[in-house]
Amino acid sequence: MTPLATPDLLRALHFAAHHHRHQRRKGPDAIPYINHPIALAYLLWDQAGVSDPIVLAAALLHDTVEDTEATLTDLEHHFGPEVAAVVAQVTDDKSLPKAVRKQRQIDHAAHLCDRAKLVKLVDKIANLQDLTQAPPTDWTVARRRDYCHWAKQVVDQLRGTHGGLETLFDQTYQGAIAALPPEVAEG
Ligand code: ZN
Repeated sequence: MTPLATPDLLRALHFAAHHHRHQRRKGPDAIPYINHPIALAYLLWDQAGVSDPIVLAAALLHDTVEDTEATLTDLEHHFGPEVAAVVAQVTDDKSLPKAVRKQRQIDHAAHLCDRAKLVKLVDKIANLQDLTQAPPTDWTVARRRDYCHWAKQVVDQLRGTHGGLETLFDQTYQGAIAALPPEVAEG
């Protein structure tokens, strides 16, 4: 295992902050995008006791290939093949239609390596936390509900990875569903 230490994590944070510098989250406050990967790394450390620097670096970098100009080759060059391999496993193929990508996440989740499963778990937890606390203003209640159900379908394929995080996901999921406003009945 490549020994990654604090300086490497700071480099990962710096790399992610640089590549996400013009991006914002979808919520009404449009918070800086980098808050999201930082939230993942912090959840892993704080809620799951994960200290594997490969996982923590991959969490910080997890959206750079999918959502920025960065490539897996860049990650391999700067952070080594293990970090790049984890990020590769949690990167959607954006050339595919969205519905196909979403189904692929469900289909592939069980086959990810344990490190990628950890990143995937905290990604879904963080996204549901954001959806509960600051839902995108242009999302309908139905879209929010669909997102919650889809996230649970993905996580259901990852179970057995980390009991504490799975419990936290379940609690976050219940909270996200409970926070949905009642849909106005038609007709
Ligand atoms: Zn993410």
